[in-house]
Amino acid sequence: MKTIGVIGAGVMGMGVAQNLAQAGYQVILVDIATEILTQARKEIYNQIRLQALFQKNKAAVLDPDSIIAQINFTTDYQQLKTAEYIIENATEKWEIKAKIYQTIDQICHPDCIFAVNTSCISITKIASLTKRPTKVIGTHYMNPVPMKTTVETIRGFHTSDATIETTKQLLATMGKECILVNDYPGFVSNRISHLFMNEAAFVVQDQVASAQEVDDIFKQCYGHKMGPLETADLIGLDTVVNSLEVLYESYQDPKFRCCPLLRKMVDAGLLGVKSGEGFYTY
Ligand code: NAD
Repeated sequence: MKTIGVIGAGVMGMGVAQNLAQAGYQVILVDIATEILTQARKEIYNQIRLQALFQKNKAAVLDPDSIIAQINFTTDYQQLKTAEYIIENATEKWEIKAKIYQTIDQICHPDCIFAVNTSCISITKIASLTKRPTKVIGTHYMNPVPMKTTVETIRGFHTSDATIETTKQLLATMGKECILVNDYPGFVSNRISHLFMNEAAFVVQDQVASAQEVDDIFKQCYGHKMGPLETADLIGLDTVVNSLEVLYESYQDPKFRCCPLLRKMVDAGLLGVKSGEGFYTY
């Protein structure tokens, strides 16, 4: 494969596009507004430069301008006609993702695979919107994408072995392995981690401990690299709230009810790392 379409130029889409361009692919990066894409170009450029500073083998450092030149930043979905594989990273809202899959199913070549980068939404449900359910797979990338070496990969009800094999090969060229799991909302990672993050927010809301104390307990007592609230800030509190809503709706289980403090922070614009303030200030 040579040309990969990436939909959504937010936290995850930028990382996926950068990683693909660095692996030598031509990337078509689609978002809804030119301003978002202009900002994405700047951020990707800065990330490549930053990464180069820390790379030990300076001879292997690629020029940021030539990497950026491999990415076509566009708001025009028709550009995806030439893509051989799509990685979709749009906002974690069913209505948004549903519209996208109905659109790209019309535009893209019938052989093109659709990889859904979602925190929680069922891959089988997304595949049902297309005429190619065997070619729809879940690829739950970790953040920051270029630094992470494992992708939770989800087999939807109809996902074919060929789609899984092509995805594994693509991930290998991006320097990643995959752990293949079956499809239920939230898969493994987020079905469990969102309970942690949500309950940690309740602990802060109930004034049992500060965010720092909660995270320190997980790091110093359990040996986790990051605490649940640092992780929530890194993901984006809006994305955490959207994911909890998907889990609550999917399982109809009150254990996934979203902590009011999380909602209040999102309403106040405190989204975590991406807005500069969440449980911590950045
Ligand atoms: P984000 O809010 O940072 O970015 C979402 C982007 O999608 C925005 O730029 C938005 O303009 C764009 N978008 C919205 N509607 C669109 C449309 N119709 N067409 C094209 N682009 C559109 O969100 P994110 O954190 O990058 O998350 C993206 C997806 O990846 C979500 O499904 C999320 O659950 C999942 N995810 C997030 C993380 C994380 O750590 N943030 C990790 C793994 C997976």
